[in-house]
Amino acid sequence: MTAIAIDGPTGAGKSTIARRTAQELGFIYVDTGALYRAIGLSMLRRGIDLENPAAVESALDEIRVFLRFQNGEQRVMLGNEDVSDQIRTAEVSMAASRVSAVPAVREFLFQLQRDMAKSNNVIMDGRDIGTVVLPNAQVKIFLTASPEIRARRRFEEMIAKGMQTTYEDVLSDLQQRDYNDTHRAIAPLKAASDSITLDTSGDTFDQAVERVLALIKSRISADMHS
Ligand code: C5P
Repeated sequence: MTAIAIDGPTGAGKSTIARRTAQELGFIYVDTGALYRAIGLSMLRRGIDLENPAAVESALDEIRVFLRFQNGEQRVMLGNEDVSDQIRTAEVSMAASRVSAVPAVREFLFQLQRDMAKSNNVIMDGRDIGTVVLPNAQVKIFLTASPEIRARRRFEEMIAKGMQTTYEDVLSDLQQRDYNDTHRAIAPLKAASDSITLDTSGDTFDQAVERVLALIKSRISADMHS
């Protein structure tokens, strides 16, 4: 099986690029952030204090989260409910960032993520895929861009979806999540030592996809011939 890990901060374009690349290569695209989001959503609905790791940990026992693939598209399930759309709000983004710092949450999702890569060729995106979840991935990419450019892209995406927000709010949320993700004690966001960093600040979406695809193809073919 071949595994490709794409990590990086919020809004670097990981999911859009990984989805397109997966289509090109015929791999399954696994968006691991969706799993943390589903747990964040469930905690919000249960009224759990997200700053209380013990409360978050004990609520985990009652949560069943998994990914389903429908026509090649990932759907996120919370029990029998498809929450793929509900997990995309700003409130859930922040909740996901908070619960993801709880070690029990990371352990809870670890095996699930590993198992997907056991039986499928995957492109998996997240924050700790190259460092923790798939340390043996054949290709590891750390995708980044300046905070202002990431906020601008995220803002435009949200407006296109009809969500009400301002650029300033998106930028400050993104900076808060960057801070949480890079400063947590367990599996913080950082580039794996054997990853390749791609800064997409100066790229259009198509250019970024081209660069990622070219890199992956050259790595995979080098691997096959070594
Ligand atoms: O990638 P996305 O923005 O959907 O992720 C939501 C949150 O989930 C992130 O801010 C991060 O805190 C957390 N996350 C994580 N590890 C991953 C994927 C996401 O901690 N592998």
